[in-house]
Amino acid sequence: MASNQSELLISVHKIDSEIIKRESKIQSITESIVKLEKKLKNNLSISKELEIKEAASLKAHNTEEQKYKEEEKKIMERRKQISSVGGNKSAKLAERELDIAKRIMESLEKNVLDSMQNLETLQSQKLLVTNAITELKELLESKSKVAKDQINILTSELNEYRKSKLEKSSKLDPRLSSLYKRVETRYRGDAVAFASGGACQTCFRSLPAQMFNQVMAGYNLTQCPGCSRILVNPASTDSEVTSPEGI
Ligand SMILES: [Zn+2]
Repeated sequence: MASNQSELLISVHKIDSEIIKRESKIQSITESIVKLEKKLKNNLSISKELEIKEAASLKAHNTEEQKYKEEEKKIMERRKQISSVGGNKSAKLAERELDIAKRIMESLEKNVLDSMQNLETLQSQKLLVTNAITELKELLESKSKVAKDQINILTSELNEYRKSKLEKSSKLDPRLSSLYKRVETRYRGDAVAFASGGACQTCFRSLPAQMFNQVMAGYNLTQCPGCSRILVNPASTDSEVTSPEGI
């Protein structure tokens, strides 16, 4: 088999690894955006929950305050009543009654304070979440813009590489092409291994002398007995594939 088939095979192999690099870059960019979107969604739902809790807490606080005011009014009226009635016995009773009232007021006051504290805790939690949401929205907006540009560039590079691959693959010997496809399903973008120093340079398995010599002679339907990759002579390539134009 002509050695330019080995060169073609190496080209296709290199194009494939460039394709895979770009596909996985696009995937990781997309994933990082999806991750941010999920985080934002999560924070928005936390914020909604806090809003509901805050409204309930405000209502509870108002109720406690109302109870306190009503009790205060009742006690003031009772004080007036008591002071208008004289007598030693009633003075003692009044003292006891006012003592009870004082304790009730203390407990109601505690309820008002507790409900206020609860409300304040919820409000500060909500503020934190609101700030996080603002930050996330800004981050997502700027990252999405960058991601869109990056993906556009990567996609157009991918299209170029895919075009090149088609062009090169069509020139491959059908037997070599089908072997490559078969090995490629197992090793995506990594179906070709260089043979040198009597061994496969990918899995480092020593190759039988005859097999090694055949590979060196440019026979490229040989699979490594260790990893099954297609073995090629590294001397059949002299240029690196770095960009679609340079293939
Ligand atoms: Zn191998």
